[in-house]
Amino acid sequence: MTNTTQQAPASRKAEYGANALIVCDNVVRIYQVEGIEVQALQGLDLLVDPGEMIAIIGASGSGKSTLLNVLSGLDAPTAGRARVGGWDLLSLTAADRLTYRRSAVGFIWQQTARNLLPYLSAMENVALPMAFAGVRPRTRARRARDLLGSLGMGDKATRRPGELSGGEQQRVSIAVALANHPEVLFADEPTGELDAATSEEVFAALRRANTELGTTVVIVTHDAEVAGQVQRTVAIRDGRTASEVFRRTAIDEFGASSVIAEEYAVLDRAGRLQLPADFRSTLGLRDRVRLELEQDHVGIWPDARAAVASKRAATEDKS
Ligand code: ADP
Ligand code: MG
Repeated sequence: MTNTTQQAPASRKAEYGANALIVCDNVVRIYQVEGIEVQALQGLDLLVDPGEMIAIIGASGSGKSTLLNVLSGLDAPTAGRARVGGWDLLSLTAADRLTYRRSAVGFIWQQTARNLLPYLSAMENVALPMAFAGVRPRTRARRARDLLGSLGMGDKATRRPGELSGGEQQRVSIAVALANHPEVLFADEPTGELDAATSEEVFAALRRANTELGTTVVIVTHDAEVAGQVQRTVAIRDGRTASEVFRRTAIDEFGASSVIAEEYAVLDRAGRLQLPADFRSTLGLRDRVRLELEQDHVGIWPDARAAVASKRAATEDKS
């Protein structure tokens, strides 16, 4: 089956994130609750390349689920631009939205019960989205068997969710999400209800979807520990992208490998940058900093005049 992905017009080629699979450009989502505005997303920028597996981390209330709801087509942003593949998420018709949710993307929720129908077997659960997409019964059965097999659930295909452990249920959920060959898999806290060993199992299944099927995987979590499971971690704070950490494995001269994590701050298109709180407090950076353009980097220093002024004020206070 091929996806009915729309191609972006050629005139949009030069846009921000033209080569990315997922583009969030200044995405804003405001909720109105009894006349009070809640800014869940406050101009969030995010680019994800095809084939990546990333984690989005952030404290509870930072806007992670809101972002995932926007990307999975459940919710529409208030402003900004959000694109996944050729799909512009701000201008989807109702019919497009249905096709998008059915076959362009797959999702896995934290509550295992939300992913699976309790009265259907694992196999029937995986076949269901294919039935909705009009796939022939024989093809459905074969693909469901293949998917469950590759996720290590082949021998439990006839069991109902209630007869499976939490980790097994989430692996079936991954098979359901992959049923219609989505380009992207979104998972919102997929291991939130599982212990560490079972979480590891679910991550292994997500990694397999990523490496073997080439599916792009975006995992949302409040657990910074999972950072070790992916190549890139994007941290969001107060509805904005705060920093990114890239991990790579380096081999030293003795052949030993070690993982190197490099932290990057996000520079938005207006040139704004957020310095980590510990950098600011260590160097006393506040209000105004001195900037200098060097040959290959930019230097940032505390405002020397402010430091002198505050020292003078402190001395005058004493006298
Ligand atoms: P996270 O998933 O990171 O915990 P959420 O995206 O669920 O964060 O929430 C971000 C902010 O938006 C919170 O302040 C939350 O209370 C608010 N929020 C989320 N959904 C709604 C909603 N449907 N109505 C009103 N406020 C909401
Ligand atoms: Mg959430």
